[in-house]
Amino acid sequence: MRRRVASAAKPNPAHFVLASLEQKLCERLFLCTQNVDDLHEQAGLNCVVHMHGELFKSRCDTCSRAPFRDTNTYDSPVELPQCECGGGIRPHICWFGEVPFELDRIFRALNECTVFMAVGTSGVVEPAASFVAHVGGRARTIYVGAEEPANASAFTECHLGKAGEVLPLLAGSIQ
Ligand SMILES: [Zn+2]
Repeated sequence: MRRRVASAAKPNPAHFVLASLEQKLCERLFLCTQNVDDLHEQAGLNCVVHMHGELFKSRCDTCSRAPFRDTNTYDSPVELPQCECGGGIRPHICWFGEVPFELDRIFRALNECTVFMAVGTSGVVEPAASFVAHVGGRARTIYVGAEEPANASAFTECHLGKAGEVLPLLAGSIQ
Protein backbone atom coordinates (compact mmCIF):
# COMPACT_ATOMS: atom_id res chain seq x y z
CA MET A 1 0.00 0.00 0.00
CA ARG A 2 2.80 2.40 0.91
CA ARG A 3 4.52 1.75 -2.42
CA ARG A 4 1.29 2.47 -4.30
CA VAL A 5 0.78 5.74 -2.42
CA ALA A 6 4.40 6.83 -2.78
CA SER A 7 4.42 6.09 -6.51
CA ALA A 8 1.87 8.85 -7.02
CA ALA A 9 3.90 11.48 -5.10
CA LYS A 10 6.01 14.07 -6.89
CA PRO A 11 8.92 16.18 -5.57
CA ASN A 12 7.95 19.60 -4.17
CA PRO A 13 9.91 22.86 -4.60
CA ALA A 14 11.97 22.09 -1.47
CA HIS A 15 13.34 18.91 -3.05
CA PHE A 16 14.47 20.93 -6.08
CA VAL A 17 16.12 23.61 -3.92
CA LEU A 18 18.10 20.89 -2.16
CA ALA A 19 19.09 19.47 -5.52
CA SER A 20 20.47 22.83 -6.61
CA LEU A 21 22.23 23.16 -3.25
CA GLU A 22 23.94 19.85 -4.01
CA GLN A 23 25.00 21.22 -7.40
CA LYS A 24 26.51 24.26 -5.63
CA LEU A 25 28.12 22.58 -2.63
CA CYS A 26 28.93 19.19 -4.21
CA GLU A 27 30.29 16.76 -1.61
CA ARG A 28 30.18 19.46 1.07
CA LEU A 29 26.42 18.84 1.27
CA PHE A 30 25.56 15.79 3.35
CA LEU A 31 21.86 15.08 2.98
CA CYS A 32 20.34 12.60 5.35
CA THR A 33 16.62 11.89 5.33
CA GLN A 34 14.13 10.05 7.51
CA ASN A 35 11.87 9.79 4.47
CA VAL A 36 11.72 6.43 2.76
CA ASP A 37 10.37 7.68 -0.58
CA ASP A 38 12.61 8.51 -3.56
CA LEU A 39 11.49 12.11 -4.08
CA HIS A 40 14.98 13.51 -3.45
CA GLU A 41 16.34 11.27 -6.18
CA GLN A 42 13.46 12.21 -8.49
CA ALA A 43 14.39 15.86 -7.95
CA GLY A 44 17.93 15.09 -9.13
CA LEU A 45 19.89 14.61 -5.91
CA ASN A 46 22.74 12.14 -6.31
CA CYS A 47 23.86 11.52 -2.72
CA VAL A 48 21.08 10.87 -0.23
CA VAL A 49 21.54 8.92 2.98
CA HIS A 50 18.27 7.19 3.83
CA MET A 51 18.63 6.54 7.55
CA HIS A 52 15.24 4.82 7.74
CA GLY A 53 15.73 2.85 4.54
CA GLU A 54 14.12 2.97 1.13
CA LEU A 55 10.56 1.99 0.30
CA PHE A 56 11.41 0.95 -3.25
CA LYS A 57 14.07 -1.52 -2.14
CA SER A 58 13.78 -4.93 -0.56
CA ARG A 59 16.28 -7.21 1.07
CA CYS A 60 16.57 -10.77 2.35
CA ASP A 61 16.02 -11.27 6.08
CA THR A 62 18.53 -14.10 6.14
CA CYS A 63 21.44 -13.90 3.69
CA SER A 64 23.81 -11.02 2.94
CA ARG A 65 22.66 -10.23 -0.61
CA ALA A 66 22.59 -6.47 -1.19
CA PRO A 67 19.25 -4.61 -0.98
CA PHE A 68 17.73 -4.46 -4.47
CA ARG A 69 15.23 -2.22 -6.27
CA ASP A 70 11.70 -3.57 -5.81
CA THR A 71 8.60 -1.73 -6.98
CA ASN A 72 6.27 -4.71 -6.57
CA THR A 73 3.05 -3.71 -4.82
CA TYR A 74 1.76 -7.27 -4.41
CA ASP A 75 -1.74 -6.21 -5.40
CA SER A 76 -3.18 -9.71 -5.31
CA PRO A 77 -2.85 -11.86 -2.21
CA VAL A 78 0.35 -13.85 -2.52
CA GLU A 79 2.66 -15.79 -0.30
CA LEU A 80 5.38 -13.54 1.06
CA PRO A 81 8.20 -13.58 -1.48
CA GLN A 82 11.21 -15.74 -0.75
CA CYS A 83 14.89 -15.34 -1.50
CA GLU A 84 16.80 -18.08 -3.34
CA CYS A 85 18.38 -18.90 0.03
CA GLY A 86 14.97 -19.67 1.55
CA GLY A 87 14.88 -16.49 3.62
CA GLY A 88 12.01 -14.02 3.47
CA ILE A 89 12.09 -10.88 1.34
CA ARG A 90 11.25 -7.78 3.37
CA PRO A 91 11.14 -4.05 2.66
CA HIS A 92 14.50 -2.30 3.09
CA ILE A 93 12.97 -0.14 5.82
CA CYS A 94 14.02 0.50 9.39
CA TRP A 95 11.10 -0.67 11.47
CA PHE A 96 10.43 0.52 15.04
CA GLY A 97 12.97 -1.05 17.35
CA GLU A 98 15.55 -1.51 14.58
CA VAL A 99 18.77 0.50 14.36
CA PRO A 100 18.74 3.20 11.64
CA PHE A 101 21.16 2.84 8.74
CA GLU A 102 24.50 4.58 8.26
CA LEU A 103 24.74 6.13 11.73
CA ASP A 104 28.57 6.06 11.57
CA ARG A 105 28.60 8.20 8.43
CA ILE A 106 25.92 10.49 9.82
CA PHE A 107 27.80 11.19 13.05
CA ARG A 108 31.05 11.75 11.13
CA ALA A 109 29.21 14.38 9.08
CA LEU A 110 27.68 15.93 12.22
CA ASN A 111 31.14 16.17 13.78
CA GLU A 112 32.44 18.10 10.77
CA CYS A 113 29.49 20.28 9.84
CA THR A 114 29.50 24.07 10.00
CA VAL A 115 25.85 24.54 8.97
CA PHE A 116 23.19 22.13 10.17
CA MET A 117 19.67 22.35 8.78
CA ALA A 118 16.65 20.25 9.67
CA VAL A 119 13.67 20.45 7.33
CA GLY A 120 10.10 19.46 8.08
CA THR A 121 10.68 17.12 11.00
CA SER A 122 8.82 16.86 14.29
CA GLY A 123 11.97 16.83 16.40
CA VAL A 124 10.61 13.84 18.27
CA VAL A 125 11.94 10.72 16.53
CA GLU A 126 15.34 9.63 17.83
CA PRO A 127 18.17 9.53 17.02
CA ALA A 128 17.53 12.30 14.45
CA ALA A 129 15.94 14.58 17.05
CA SER A 130 19.28 14.76 18.88
CA PHE A 131 21.41 15.62 15.83
CA VAL A 132 21.00 19.36 16.45
CA ALA A 133 22.14 19.00 20.06
CA HIS A 134 25.16 17.04 18.81
CA VAL A 135 26.36 19.97 16.66
CA GLY A 136 24.96 22.72 18.90
CA GLY A 137 27.38 25.51 19.74
CA ARG A 138 29.82 24.62 16.96
CA ALA A 139 27.62 25.23 13.93
CA ARG A 140 24.86 27.42 12.60
CA THR A 141 21.70 25.40 13.26
CA ILE A 142 18.60 26.09 11.19
CA TYR A 143 15.10 24.66 11.35
CA VAL A 144 12.71 24.96 8.43
CA GLY A 145 9.17 23.64 8.58
CA ALA A 146 5.49 24.49 8.83
CA GLU A 147 5.25 23.85 12.57
CA GLU A 148 7.60 24.45 15.44
CA PRO A 149 9.42 21.20 16.25
CA ALA A 150 9.55 19.74 19.76
CA ASN A 151 13.28 20.57 19.94
CA ALA A 152 12.94 24.16 18.62
CA SER A 153 14.97 25.68 21.47
CA ALA A 154 18.05 23.74 20.32
CA PHE A 155 18.21 25.68 17.03
CA THR A 156 19.82 29.09 16.57
CA GLU A 157 17.32 29.88 13.77
CA CYS A 158 13.74 28.69 13.34
CA HIS A 159 12.08 29.55 10.03
CA LEU A 160 8.43 28.55 10.18
CA GLY A 161 6.65 28.14 6.88
CA LYS A 162 6.33 25.72 4.02
CA ALA A 163 9.76 24.29 3.18
CA GLY A 164 9.07 24.95 -0.50
CA GLU A 165 8.65 28.65 0.23
CA VAL A 166 11.25 29.18 2.98
CA LEU A 167 14.11 27.12 1.55
CA PRO A 168 14.54 29.12 -1.67
CA LEU A 169 15.03 32.27 0.46
CA LEU A 170 17.54 30.60 2.76
CA ALA A 171 19.54 28.59 0.25
CA GLY A 172 21.57 31.60 -0.88
CA SER A 173 22.91 32.12 2.66
CA ILE A 174 24.32 28.58 2.84
CA GLN A 175 27.86 28.55 1.54
ZN1 LIG B 1 18.62 -14.66 1.01
